[in-house]
Parts: sequence; C-alpha cells; structure tokens
Amino acid sequence: MSEKKIILTGDRPTGKLHLGHYVGSLAARVKLQDTHQQFVMIADAQALTDHAHEPQKIRENILEVALDYLAVGIDPKVSTIFIQSLVPALPELTMYYLNLITWNRLKHNPTVKLEIQQKGYGEEVPAGFMIYPISQAADITAFKASVVPVGDDQIPMIEQTVEVVRKFNRLYKTDVLIEPKAVISTIARLPGVDGKAKMSKSLNNAIYLSDSVDVITKKVKGMYTDPGHLKVEDPGKVEGNPVFTYLDAFGQDKAKIEELKAHYARGGLGDSVVKKYLLETLLAFLEPIRKKREEFAKDPKEVMNYLFKGTEVAKRRAEQTLSEVRAAMGIDYKI
Ligand code: ATP
Ligand code: MG
Repeated sequence: MSEKKIILTGDRPTGKLHLGHYVGSLAARVKLQDTHQQFVMIADAQALTDHAHEPQKIRENILEVALDYLAVGIDPKVSTIFIQSLVPALPELTMYYLNLITWNRLKHNPTVKLEIQQKGYGEEVPAGFMIYPISQAADITAFKASVVPVGDDQIPMIEQTVEVVRKFNRLYKTDVLIEPKAVISTIARLPGVDGKAKMSKSLNNAIYLSDSVDVITKKVKGMYTDPGHLKVEDPGKVEGNPVFTYLDAFGQDKAKIEELKAHYARGGLGDSVVKKYLLETLLAFLEPIRKKREEFAKDPKEVMNYLFKGTEVAKRRAEQTLSEVRAAMGIDYKI
C-alpha cells in the first residue's frame, strides 16, 4: 500500500459549488492531491437526508458537482472521485457506529443544531438527518483518512468521528480505525453575499463557480457591506465586511487590498469603488474555471465515466475496511 497520507472529503450534490466551497475545501484538495492519496465523495446519500422529497434534484447535481471538481483542477487520474450511494459498505459501517454514540450526544452537535433551526425542523427533524455526522464518520474511516480539508462548520463532525474511532478501537481492542484531523483553511468560513456568516447553497447567498459574468456582476453590486457606511466620507468597517473577506480570499495584490482597507476605515472610499475592484478580481479568478467547466460539460458521458471508475476503486477500499471492522467486532461469520 502507498505511504501517502489519505484524504477524504466530499460535497452534497444539492446544487452547484460556490466560492465558499473553493476557499473552504476545494483549493486544499487541488493542492494536496499530488502529495496525498485523495478520495473525493459526492455525498448523494447524505444530501437525501434533507432532500428526500427531491431525489431528481440530487441526481442532476451529481454531474454539476463533478464538473465543478474538474473545473477547479481536481484531476480524476490522480484523485478518486466517487458517488457515495454506490458504496454499500458505508451505510453498513454507519449502522455499527450508531451503537457507539448516544442520542443525547447527537442532539448536541452545534452544526446540526444550527441547521435544524435554519431548516425550521423543530422536533420534526428526519432521523436520517439527525445521524448524518455518524454517516460522515463511516465515510472518513472507510478510507482510513487521516486528513480532512473542510470549512469550520465541519469541525464538530471530525470531533464526532474521532470519538467513534476511539470508542470502536477501545471497545473491540483493535487499531483498524484511523483518527482523522480537520485541515482548516485561513478563511475557514466564507460569508454570504448577504453578509450572513456562511455562504451556502441552502441560504441562497452564494456566488457559484459557474455563474455567468452578468450574474456575478449583479451579485457583487448587490452585496452587503457595512450598513453604517452611509456617505462616502464616513469611516467604514472592514472587519466582518464580506467585500473585504472576498478580497482577502481571492485578491492577488495584497498591498493594494491593505491600502483599500485603510482608506475605507478612514473614510472617503465609496462601496461602489471597492465593489468594482472586487468584481474585477472575481471575474479574473472565475473566468478560467468557467471556461474549463464548459469544455468538460461538452462530454457528460466521459465525466460520468470518471465517477464510475472512481466508484469501483472506492467500493473495494471501503469493502476492505468493512471486513476488518467486522473481524474486529467478531462478526465475520460466513454462511
Ligand atoms: P448545503 O447547504 O446543501 O449543506 P453547503 O453549501 O453547506 O450545502 P456542503 O456540501 O454541505 O455545502 O459542504 C461541502 C464542503 O464545503 C464542506 O467541507 C464545507 O465545510 C465546505 N463549505 C461549504 N460552505 C462553505 C463556506 N461558506 N465557507 C467555507 N467552507 C464551506
Ligand atoms: Mg452543508
């Protein structure tokens, strides 16, 4: 087996990928794929936990997410890209892990709590949604991943996985499961264009990697800035102002960005000037991604082929871990 450390990450095919995905996780995946053995999962089963009523939408977005991967430079010849629901070892591992974690513990996962609130579920939360952190533990451990590049909303999920690993290894006196570590980028959570803490497909506040020039222009022009910055002469807030967060994330000319920040804070710099510079910055960043995406989109069959090939590899790998898990539990009986 290779000496390289293993990475597992993924995205829910609930829509196309956006700038938040890029800074939170995709950039690291592109960078790390040559030095690590990387598995990239399109988490369709997890997406169904809150989209059971629209499986068609999830199905359609598998291709969209795959195109986004290829467009940013995740190379299917180097990374293994696969479809979660086609790997049956994953739900089986989930079943065994669920017995190691209490219901009370699940209820206190801060990311899940926030999402339940945002989705307005109250007590009527789908059981599958409630336990998705455990299915993530199955995804991560099935590939023996030690590195998981994610946005900071995923920190509780990695902590939960570490708990599962420790509990399993202790209980069954084994070392088959590997403890993962989250790798968090410097911008751990990109805010939405509306100023909300997280850019998210579900919150309708995202700039997508595939957005057209017109759409990006409209979104940037309408972006939330400092609501207290009413007149150009007024001093403005840089901290927590998404326009500057985006510049930090995507701008190349750091000196110019620092100068703009200082000017904005002092007063005398209008929002429209900063937005114009941000627009240029984003268009320059997104143009090659959009072009590459359009190229790959011409041959969707080939893209799906990458996924099927990757899925075969992933299936074998997860199957292997599952048999080690069953053996560790002493339920490796054959009939
Ligand atoms: P959904 O609303 O369907 O949950 P999402 O936009 O939250 O979609 P996910 O597929 O849940 O996207 O997240 C995939 C990965 O991208 C995770 O590692 C997550 O941390 C990261 N990510 C998503 N949004 C952001 C963001 N705004 N900033 C940083 N990382 C993000
Ligand atoms: Mg999410």
